[in-house]
Amino acid sequence: MLNLVLFGAPGSGKGTQSERLINEYGLHHISTGEVLRDHIRRGTELGKTAEKYISEGQLIPDGLMIDILDDVLEKEAKGKKGVVFDGFPRTVPQAEALKGLLGKRGTELHCVIGLEVPEDELVDRMLKRGKETGRADDNPETIRKRLEVYHKQTSPLRDYYTSEGKYLPINGQGLVEEIFDSIAEGIEKATGEKRASAR
Ligand code: AMP
Repeated sequence: MLNLVLFGAPGSGKGTQSERLINEYGLHHISTGEVLRDHIRRGTELGKTAEKYISEGQLIPDGLMIDILDDVLEKEAKGKKGVVFDGFPRTVPQAEALKGLLGKRGTELHCVIGLEVPEDELVDRMLKRGKETGRADDNPETIRKRLEVYHKQTSPLRDYYTSEGKYLPINGQGLVEEIFDSIAEGIEKATGEKRASAR
């Protein structure tokens, strides 16, 4: 398997680059934000719980989020060539749990792609997305909170994965295709895997 994490602040382009990764490498996409938004749309109990945290820009508690991911992996990842994790892990305990969840399935995490984008551009992108898609947490107050949470709880994962030798920093500014080219180059160096269009 080829298992990748797309890492970065909210608005750094994880969703956009995930789409390219799944197409070029034949991987399965798991976006924990999308999983939660789907529960909210369907009005499930989990959706009701998730909505409270999401609307305040807070993270869903680790224990709950890890159980959800375990469940999604069980249902969706079997027999797949690999997985792109988008928006997970967001805390050190989630990163530890991911190691265990992949380990018990006889596989591991190969590379963490870190999309690095300056803060003012992140805010501009999320405000634009909020206008275009109506995404509820892309409003100025929740964006501010989400960035604060990112700095406190998620950004330590950069050091965590750097010390594991898995962190691949990518300049997340510029054209979508150029950013993807840097990602593909990094993946090839780190894992030997080539994108479909280069095979
Ligand atoms: P995203 O679509 O990845 O930006 O996620 C939207 C929101 O869903 C986040 O602001 C969190 O409230 C929640 N969320 C998504 N993934 C996670 C996660 N791995 N841990 C905790 N909360 C999450």
